[in-house]
Amino acid sequence: MSDETFPEIRDSVRKLCEQFPGPYWQELDATRTYPAAFVKALTDAGFLSILIPEEYGGAGLGLGAATAVLEEIHRSGSNGGACHAQMYTMGTLLKHGNAEQKAKYLPKIASGELALQAFGVTEPNSGTDTTRIRTFARREGDRYIVNGQKIWISRAEYSDLMILLVRTTPREQAAKPSDGMSVLLVDMRAARGNGLTIRPIRTMLNHATTELFFDNLEVPVENLIGEQDKGFRYILDGMNAERILIASESIGDGRFFIDRATAYAKQREVFGGPIGKNQGIQFPIARAYVQVAAAAAMVDNAAALFDAGKPCGTEANMAKMLASEASWFAADMCLQTHGGFGFAAEYDIERKFREARLYQVAPISTNLILSHVATHVLGLPKSF
Ligand SMILES: Cc1cc2nc3c(=O)[nH]c(=O)nc-3n(C[C@H](O)[C@H](O)[C@H](O)COP(=O)(O)OP(=O)(O)OC[C@H]3O[C@@H](n4cnc5c(N)ncnc54)[C@H](O)[C@@H]3O)c2cc1C
Repeated sequence: MSDETFPEIRDSVRKLCEQFPGPYWQELDATRTYPAAFVKALTDAGFLSILIPEEYGGAGLGLGAATAVLEEIHRSGSNGGACHAQMYTMGTLLKHGNAEQKAKYLPKIASGELALQAFGVTEPNSGTDTTRIRTFARREGDRYIVNGQKIWISRAEYSDLMILLVRTTPREQAAKPSDGMSVLLVDMRAARGNGLTIRPIRTMLNHATTELFFDNLEVPVENLIGEQDKGFRYILDGMNAERILIASESIGDGRFFIDRATAYAKQREVFGGPIGKNQGIQFPIARAYVQVAAAAAMVDNAAALFDAGKPCGTEANMAKMLASEASWFAADMCLQTHGGFGFAAEYDIERKFREARLYQVAPISTNLILSHVATHVLGLPKSF
């Protein structure tokens, strides 16, 4: 493609991903193993520190460049879920941390010496209603004592640091529900076994997600990011970047499915000719192409707004919704185009099919995006 953004970055990412072909991912998928070699290769190549400013050792590029990296990873058949958070989770620290915190952590995150891959928000009883989280950090002198539970916290076992959202003032005592929450930077190396227990959850895809239990975990007060009780706003900031980047992964998945379906439809001969000669096969591939192209334009638009420092919450949400739906349509189309072979692990279609489905639920589910558009954009009455 001649009009693609960041052609040099895309080219290098494609070359790197060639070293991690289907069998690498199939083996990890079968054993639910973390893709450590792939993450190391991306780290060494500098792709995961692309958003960190140059003064801290990163490339200082914008979100547009990061979307190119993740899209190509996914288009190649690889998966960025094991490491995408290393790119954007540091945004909370970068935007809201103090000078000492940034100087202490960002250069090590940029070099890969420290993994900041864990982002702890979701809890079993609050679901999407984040203001109802119950994990509580009580201040005692120069430390917080954290108690509670989180669920679906991905990569916690492979992370040195975690951005953790906690309540520091009970919801009922806060001026408004979104007040009274704070962000702590947790050193996982010190925490594990000292108040933090991590329990892996096996899921339908290889995603290294976990449940976390906090039992009087001590976190030094110096690890508070920004102001106490103001943390919800800091987290929301980071969520826009996350949604745009995840959307670019869906675009990559969509293009993977279209590439594979197109190639297979040209080569598979049934009834004396290639199946791709039939419009019943062609049109779903073409439709997937159109839908992915439209969603990609929305992702580019959201990333451009983010990089210009403009409000982009609605655009990030819309891009994530359309991209995840386009990739899912493409996944279903690709499976159907492959007939029985789509179900064979060695074709990678069934694996990518399972992986692509996640993004209609995480990091935010489709209904919540529609609710945002209905109430915040269109001014319709709120149902909750
Ligand atoms: C593999 C995986 C990895 C994840 N990684 C992380 C992570 O690293 N960190 C983290 O903090 N979280 C993580 N999550 C959590 C994820 O962000 C949530 O699962 C997601 O936001 C949905 O929340 P929930 O599961 O609590 O669903 P719920 O909030 O319980 O919602 C269930 C369903 O009901 C719908 N629904 C809820 N309320 C309404 C309403 N008012 N109107 C209409 N529909 C509604 C939702 O859209 C959804 O479809 C991960 C999840 C998964 C599955």
